[in-house]
Amino acid sequence: MRLLCKFVILMSLGVCSVCAKPNVYILATGGTIAGSSKSALSSAYKSGSLSVDSLLGAIPQAKELANLKAEQISNIGSQEMNDAVWLKLAKRVQALLSKKDVDGVVITHGTDTMEETAYFLNLVIKSAKPVVMVGAMRNADSLSADGPLNLYNAIAVASDVQSKGKGVLVVMDDAIHAAREVSKTNTTGVDTFKSLNSGPLGHVLYGHVRFYMQSLRKHTLESAFDIAQIHDLPRVDIIYSHANDHADFVQSALQHGAKGIVSAGMGNGNLYPSILEALAQAAKKGVAVVRSSRVGSGFITRPGEIDDSQYGFVSGDNLNPQKARVLLMLALSQTHDPQKIQNYFDTH
Ligand code: GLU
Repeated sequence: MRLLCKFVILMSLGVCSVCAKPNVYILATGGTIAGSSKSALSSAYKSGSLSVDSLLGAIPQAKELANLKAEQISNIGSQEMNDAVWLKLAKRVQALLSKKDVDGVVITHGTDTMEETAYFLNLVIKSAKPVVMVGAMRNADSLSADGPLNLYNAIAVASDVQSKGKGVLVVMDDAIHAAREVSKTNTTGVDTFKSLNSGPLGHVLYGHVRFYMQSLRKHTLESAFDIAQIHDLPRVDIIYSHANDHADFVQSALQHGAKGIVSAGMGNGNLYPSILEALAQAAKKGVAVVRSSRVGSGFITRPGEIDDSQYGFVSGDNLNPQKARVLLMLALSQTHDPQKIQNYFDTH
Protein backbone atom coordinates (compact mmCIF):
# COMPACT_ATOMS: atom_id res chain seq x y z
CA MET A 1 0.00 0.00 0.00
CA ARG A 2 2.82 2.43 0.95
CA LEU A 3 4.72 1.68 -2.27
CA LEU A 4 1.60 2.23 -4.32
CA CYS A 5 0.98 5.47 -2.46
CA LYS A 6 4.48 6.83 -3.17
CA PHE A 7 3.97 5.89 -6.80
CA VAL A 8 0.63 7.70 -6.99
CA ILE A 9 2.10 10.79 -5.30
CA LEU A 10 5.06 10.84 -7.63
CA MET A 11 2.80 10.45 -10.63
CA SER A 12 0.29 13.07 -9.69
CA LEU A 13 2.31 15.29 -7.36
CA GLY A 14 -0.90 15.45 -5.32
CA VAL A 15 -2.21 13.95 -2.10
CA CYS A 16 -3.00 10.26 -2.30
CA SER A 17 -6.47 9.84 -0.83
CA VAL A 18 -6.05 6.04 -0.66
CA CYS A 19 -3.29 6.37 1.92
CA ALA A 20 -4.39 9.53 3.74
CA LYS A 21 -4.32 8.99 7.50
CA PRO A 22 -7.71 8.95 9.23
CA ASN A 23 -8.67 11.74 11.62
CA VAL A 24 -9.27 10.36 15.10
CA TYR A 25 -10.38 12.25 18.21
CA ILE A 26 -9.31 11.14 21.66
CA LEU A 27 -11.85 12.05 24.35
CA ALA A 28 -10.44 11.61 27.82
CA THR A 29 -12.61 10.99 30.90
CA GLY A 30 -10.01 9.91 33.48
CA GLY A 31 -9.43 6.50 35.09
CA THR A 32 -6.32 4.51 35.95
CA ILE A 33 -4.95 5.02 32.43
CA ALA A 34 -4.55 8.67 33.55
CA GLY A 35 -3.60 7.67 37.10
CA SER A 36 -0.34 8.42 38.83
CA SER A 37 1.48 7.04 41.82
CA LYS A 38 4.50 7.98 43.96
CA SER A 39 5.86 4.47 43.54
CA ALA A 40 6.19 2.16 40.54
CA LEU A 41 5.42 -0.76 42.85
CA SER A 42 2.43 0.41 44.86
CA SER A 43 -1.27 -0.41 44.52
CA ALA A 44 -2.03 3.06 45.93
CA TYR A 45 -2.54 5.68 43.22
CA LYS A 46 -4.90 8.44 42.16
CA SER A 47 -7.15 7.93 39.12
CA GLY A 48 -7.59 10.75 36.62
CA SER A 49 -4.41 12.72 37.42
CA LEU A 50 -2.79 13.07 33.99
CA SER A 51 -4.02 15.10 31.02
CA VAL A 52 -4.86 13.53 27.68
CA ASP A 53 -1.83 15.27 26.14
CA SER A 54 0.43 13.50 28.57
CA LEU A 55 -1.17 10.13 27.72
CA LEU A 56 -0.53 10.76 24.02
CA GLY A 57 2.99 11.97 24.82
CA ALA A 58 3.80 8.40 25.95
CA ILE A 59 2.94 6.96 22.51
CA PRO A 60 4.56 9.13 19.80
CA GLN A 61 4.19 6.13 17.43
CA ALA A 62 0.41 6.74 17.34
CA LYS A 63 0.95 9.72 15.04
CA GLU A 64 1.81 7.20 12.32
CA LEU A 65 -1.64 5.65 12.61
CA ALA A 66 -3.87 8.73 12.47
CA ASN A 67 -4.09 12.50 12.70
CA LEU A 68 -4.93 12.91 16.36
CA LYS A 69 -6.85 15.60 18.21
CA ALA A 70 -7.57 15.37 21.90
CA GLU A 71 -10.16 16.78 24.31
CA GLN A 72 -10.65 16.37 28.03
CA ILE A 73 -14.32 15.62 28.83
CA SER A 74 -13.74 14.92 32.54
CA ASN A 75 -10.89 13.64 34.68
CA ILE A 76 -12.47 11.28 37.20
CA GLY A 77 -12.18 7.75 38.50
CA SER A 78 -14.97 5.93 36.70
CA GLN A 79 -16.59 5.01 40.04
CA GLU A 80 -17.67 8.70 39.90
CA MET A 81 -19.32 8.31 36.47
CA ASN A 82 -22.79 9.82 36.32
CA ASP A 83 -25.63 10.75 33.97
CA ALA A 84 -24.31 14.28 33.39
CA VAL A 85 -20.93 13.03 32.09
CA TRP A 86 -22.65 10.30 30.03
CA LEU A 87 -24.89 12.83 28.31
CA LYS A 88 -22.03 15.30 27.73
CA LEU A 89 -19.80 12.54 26.35
CA ALA A 90 -22.47 11.01 24.10
CA LYS A 91 -23.47 14.40 22.68
CA ARG A 92 -19.82 15.25 21.97
CA VAL A 93 -19.17 11.87 20.31
CA GLN A 94 -22.27 12.35 18.16
CA ALA A 95 -21.28 15.89 17.19
CA LEU A 96 -17.76 14.76 16.21
CA LEU A 97 -18.86 11.72 14.23
CA SER A 98 -21.40 13.83 12.35
CA LYS A 99 -18.48 15.80 10.83
CA LYS A 100 -17.19 14.61 7.46
CA ASP A 101 -13.57 15.04 8.47
CA VAL A 102 -13.76 12.89 11.64
CA ASP A 103 -13.22 9.16 11.05
CA GLY A 104 -13.35 7.74 14.55
CA VAL A 105 -13.30 8.43 18.28
CA VAL A 106 -11.29 6.84 21.10
CA ILE A 107 -12.49 7.34 24.68
CA THR A 108 -10.11 6.85 27.59
CA HIS A 109 -12.06 5.74 30.68
CA GLY A 110 -11.66 4.10 34.06
CA THR A 111 -12.28 0.39 34.01
CA ASP A 112 -14.77 0.21 36.91
CA THR A 113 -17.77 1.42 34.89
CA MET A 114 -16.36 1.20 31.37
CA GLU A 115 -18.83 -1.54 30.42
CA GLU A 116 -21.79 0.67 31.39
CA THR A 117 -20.57 3.73 29.47
CA ALA A 118 -19.72 1.53 26.47
CA TYR A 119 -23.20 -0.02 26.38
CA PHE A 120 -24.86 3.39 26.85
CA LEU A 121 -22.95 4.85 23.88
CA ASN A 122 -23.59 1.65 21.87
CA LEU A 123 -27.33 2.26 22.26
CA VAL A 124 -27.53 6.03 21.63
CA ILE A 125 -24.86 7.02 19.06
CA LYS A 126 -26.09 7.30 15.48
CA SER A 127 -23.03 6.56 13.39
CA ALA A 128 -21.25 3.59 11.83
CA LYS A 129 -17.85 5.21 12.43
CA PRO A 130 -15.66 3.48 15.03
CA VAL A 131 -16.03 4.41 18.70
CA VAL A 132 -13.41 2.65 20.81
CA MET A 133 -13.15 2.72 24.60
CA VAL A 134 -9.90 2.00 26.37
CA GLY A 135 -8.45 2.03 29.87
CA ALA A 136 -5.70 0.49 31.94
CA MET A 137 -5.39 -1.63 35.04
CA ARG A 138 -1.98 -0.26 36.02
CA ASN A 139 -1.47 3.45 36.51
CA ALA A 140 0.89 5.41 34.27
CA ASP A 141 3.73 5.34 36.85
CA SER A 142 3.55 1.59 37.42
CA LEU A 143 6.17 -0.89 36.22
CA SER A 144 4.77 -2.46 33.03
CA ALA A 145 1.94 0.06 32.83
CA ASP A 146 -0.60 -1.31 30.35
CA GLY A 147 -2.12 2.06 29.38
CA PRO A 148 0.27 3.15 26.59
CA LEU A 149 -0.04 -0.03 24.50
CA ASN A 150 -3.78 -0.27 25.18
CA LEU A 151 -4.17 3.32 23.94
CA TYR A 152 -1.99 2.70 20.89
CA ASN A 153 -4.08 -0.39 20.06
CA ALA A 154 -7.34 1.51 20.58
CA ILE A 155 -6.19 4.20 18.12
CA ALA A 156 -5.25 1.45 15.65
CA VAL A 157 -8.73 -0.10 15.97
CA ALA A 158 -10.44 3.30 15.59
CA SER A 159 -8.32 3.98 12.48
CA ASP A 160 -9.17 0.67 10.82
CA VAL A 161 -12.04 0.50 8.31
CA GLN A 162 -12.85 -3.03 9.55
CA SER A 163 -14.10 -1.45 12.80
CA LYS A 164 -16.95 0.40 11.04
CA GLY A 165 -20.49 -0.72 11.83
CA LYS A 166 -19.51 -2.98 14.73
CA GLY A 167 -20.97 -0.79 17.47
CA VAL A 168 -18.97 0.65 20.33
CA LEU A 169 -15.83 -1.41 20.97
CA VAL A 170 -13.71 -1.89 24.08
CA VAL A 171 -9.99 -2.52 23.58
CA MET A 172 -8.03 -3.89 26.55
CA ASP A 173 -5.13 -6.32 26.83
CA ASP A 174 -4.92 -7.01 23.05
CA ALA A 175 -8.61 -7.99 22.81
CA ILE A 176 -11.45 -6.19 20.99
CA HIS A 177 -14.80 -6.60 22.71
CA ALA A 178 -18.38 -5.61 21.83
CA ALA A 179 -19.84 -3.06 24.27
CA ARG A 180 -22.92 -5.21 24.95
CA GLU A 181 -20.90 -8.28 25.86
CA VAL A 182 -17.88 -7.08 27.79
CA SER A 183 -17.51 -7.04 31.59
CA LYS A 184 -14.82 -6.37 34.13
CA THR A 185 -14.32 -9.76 35.78
CA ASN A 186 -11.27 -9.36 38.02
CA THR A 187 -10.49 -6.56 40.45
CA THR A 188 -6.80 -6.13 39.55
CA GLY A 189 -5.68 -8.35 36.65
CA VAL A 190 -4.72 -6.80 33.30
CA ASP A 191 -6.80 -9.50 31.59
CA THR A 192 -9.89 -8.49 33.54
CA PHE A 193 -12.14 -7.68 30.54
CA LYS A 194 -14.02 -10.70 29.22
CA SER A 195 -17.05 -11.22 27.04
CA LEU A 196 -18.29 -14.15 29.10
CA ASN A 197 -21.30 -15.10 26.97
CA SER A 198 -19.70 -14.69 23.55
CA GLY A 199 -15.94 -14.22 23.57
CA PRO A 200 -14.25 -11.15 22.06
CA LEU A 201 -14.90 -9.88 18.52
CA GLY A 202 -11.23 -9.92 17.66
CA HIS A 203 -7.69 -9.08 18.67
CA VAL A 204 -5.20 -6.28 18.14
CA LEU A 205 -1.51 -6.96 18.50
CA TYR A 206 0.89 -3.98 18.34
CA GLY A 207 -1.71 -2.18 16.20
CA HIS A 208 -2.51 -5.09 13.85
CA VAL A 209 -6.27 -5.59 13.90
CA ARG A 210 -8.09 -8.89 13.34
CA PHE A 211 -11.85 -9.37 13.66
CA TYR A 212 -13.46 -12.81 13.81
CA MET A 213 -17.13 -12.11 14.61
CA GLN A 214 -19.69 -9.39 15.22
CA SER A 215 -22.72 -8.73 17.39
CA LEU A 216 -26.23 -9.47 16.06
CA ARG A 217 -28.01 -7.26 18.61
CA LYS A 218 -29.17 -3.77 17.60
CA HIS A 219 -26.70 -0.96 18.20
CA THR A 220 -25.85 2.55 16.95
CA LEU A 221 -27.69 3.13 13.64
CA GLU A 222 -30.15 0.25 14.26
CA SER A 223 -30.82 1.01 17.92
CA ALA A 224 -34.22 2.36 19.01
CA PHE A 225 -32.50 5.14 21.01
CA ASP A 226 -30.93 8.39 19.85
CA ILE A 227 -28.84 10.76 21.96
CA ALA A 228 -30.45 13.72 20.15
CA GLN A 229 -33.73 12.82 21.90
CA ILE A 230 -32.31 12.12 25.37
CA HIS A 231 -31.94 14.99 27.83
CA ASP A 232 -32.10 13.14 31.16
CA LEU A 233 -32.36 9.60 32.46
CA PRO A 234 -34.84 8.15 34.97
CA ARG A 235 -33.72 6.64 38.27
CA VAL A 236 -33.26 2.88 38.00
CA ASP A 237 -31.89 0.97 41.00
CA ILE A 238 -30.22 -2.44 41.19
CA ILE A 239 -31.21 -4.69 44.08
CA TYR A 240 -28.77 -7.48 44.88
CA SER A 241 -30.23 -10.77 46.18
CA HIS A 242 -28.86 -13.08 48.86
CA ALA A 243 -29.91 -15.82 51.27
CA ASN A 244 -32.14 -14.63 54.15
CA ASP A 245 -32.95 -11.47 52.15
CA HIS A 246 -35.10 -8.51 53.29
CA ALA A 247 -37.46 -6.42 51.18
CA ASP A 248 -36.46 -3.05 52.73
CA PHE A 249 -34.33 -1.97 49.77
CA VAL A 250 -37.29 -2.44 47.40
CA GLN A 251 -39.39 -0.10 49.57
CA SER A 252 -36.51 2.37 49.75
CA ALA A 253 -36.06 2.39 45.96
CA LEU A 254 -39.76 3.13 45.50
CA GLN A 255 -39.78 5.84 48.18
CA HIS A 256 -36.82 7.52 46.48
CA GLY A 257 -38.56 7.67 43.11
CA ALA A 258 -37.11 4.72 41.19
CA LYS A 259 -39.01 4.27 37.92
CA GLY A 260 -37.38 0.92 37.39
CA ILE A 261 -35.67 -1.81 39.39
CA VAL A 262 -33.18 -4.34 38.10
CA SER A 263 -33.00 -7.42 40.27
CA ALA A 264 -29.57 -9.01 40.53
CA GLY A 265 -31.28 -12.27 41.44
CA MET A 266 -29.85 -15.60 42.49
CA GLY A 267 -29.01 -18.17 39.78
CA ASN A 268 -31.56 -17.92 36.94
CA GLY A 269 -32.91 -14.66 38.39
CA ASN A 270 -34.51 -16.28 41.45
CA LEU A 271 -35.75 -14.24 44.39
CA TYR A 272 -36.26 -14.68 48.11
CA PRO A 273 -40.06 -14.93 48.71
CA SER A 274 -40.42 -11.53 50.42
CA ILE A 275 -38.48 -9.83 47.59
CA LEU A 276 -40.61 -11.58 44.97
CA GLU A 277 -43.70 -10.26 46.73
CA ALA A 278 -42.29 -6.71 47.05
CA LEU A 279 -41.21 -6.60 43.39
CA ALA A 280 -44.60 -7.96 42.28
CA GLN A 281 -46.27 -5.11 44.20
CA ALA A 282 -43.87 -2.61 42.59
CA ALA A 283 -44.69 -3.94 39.10
CA LYS A 284 -48.43 -3.62 39.89
CA LYS A 285 -47.84 0.06 40.70
CA GLY A 286 -46.22 0.57 37.26
CA VAL A 287 -42.55 0.34 38.23
CA ALA A 288 -40.58 -1.59 35.57
CA VAL A 289 -38.96 -4.69 37.10
CA VAL A 290 -36.23 -6.51 35.17
CA ARG A 291 -34.95 -9.89 36.33
CA SER A 292 -31.21 -10.26 35.90
CA SER A 293 -28.70 -12.39 37.80
CA ARG A 294 -25.80 -11.89 40.16
CA VAL A 295 -24.05 -14.91 38.55
CA GLY A 296 -22.20 -12.94 35.83
CA SER A 297 -22.95 -15.05 32.76
CA GLY A 298 -25.80 -16.96 31.15
CA PHE A 299 -29.33 -15.82 30.34
CA ILE A 300 -32.55 -15.57 32.34
CA THR A 301 -35.19 -17.98 31.07
CA ARG A 302 -38.72 -16.70 30.53
CA PRO A 303 -40.36 -18.39 32.35
CA GLY A 304 -38.05 -20.12 34.81
CA GLU A 305 -38.93 -20.91 38.40
CA ILE A 306 -40.51 -17.43 38.24
CA ASP A 307 -43.14 -16.80 35.56
CA ASP A 308 -42.46 -13.20 34.48
CA SER A 309 -45.82 -12.79 32.74
CA GLN A 310 -47.65 -13.67 35.99
CA TYR A 311 -45.88 -10.81 37.81
CA GLY A 312 -45.49 -8.27 34.98
CA PHE A 313 -41.70 -8.65 35.08
CA VAL A 314 -39.23 -8.35 32.21
CA SER A 315 -36.51 -10.95 31.65
CA GLY A 316 -33.08 -9.33 31.36
CA ASP A 317 -31.84 -11.90 28.81
CA ASN A 318 -28.07 -12.31 29.25
CA LEU A 319 -27.29 -8.72 30.27
CA ASN A 320 -25.60 -8.40 33.63
CA PRO A 321 -27.43 -6.16 36.13
CA GLN A 322 -25.39 -3.01 35.40
CA LYS A 323 -26.00 -3.32 31.65
CA ALA A 324 -29.67 -4.21 32.17
CA ARG A 325 -29.91 -0.97 34.17
CA VAL A 326 -28.56 1.04 31.19
CA LEU A 327 -31.03 -0.52 28.76
CA LEU A 328 -33.94 -0.11 31.19
CA MET A 329 -33.18 3.61 31.68
CA LEU A 330 -33.27 4.11 27.91
CA ALA A 331 -36.35 1.89 27.46
CA LEU A 332 -38.19 3.97 30.07
CA SER A 333 -37.51 7.08 27.97
CA GLN A 334 -39.87 5.50 25.39
CA THR A 335 -42.39 3.33 27.25
CA HIS A 336 -43.51 1.87 30.59
CA ASP A 337 -45.24 -1.14 28.99
CA PRO A 338 -43.46 -4.34 30.20
CA GLN A 339 -44.15 -6.10 26.87
CA LYS A 340 -42.49 -3.31 24.89
CA ILE A 341 -39.60 -3.17 27.38
CA GLN A 342 -39.24 -6.95 26.96
CA ASN A 343 -39.01 -6.38 23.22
CA TYR A 344 -36.04 -4.01 23.74
CA PHE A 345 -34.35 -6.63 25.92
CA ASP A 346 -34.92 -9.28 23.26
CA THR A 347 -33.37 -7.21 20.48
CA HIS A 348 -30.74 -4.80 21.89
N1 GLU B 1 -11.39 3.28 40.00
C1 GLU B 1 -10.64 3.35 38.80
C2 GLU B 1 -11.54 3.75 37.63
O1 GLU B 1 -12.47 3.08 37.28
C3 GLU B 1 -9.97 2.07 38.67
C4 GLU B 1 -10.17 1.35 37.47
C5 GLU B 1 -9.26 1.63 36.36
O2 GLU B 1 -9.33 2.62 35.66
O3 GLU B 1 -8.52 0.70 36.14
O4 GLU B 1 -11.34 4.81 37.11
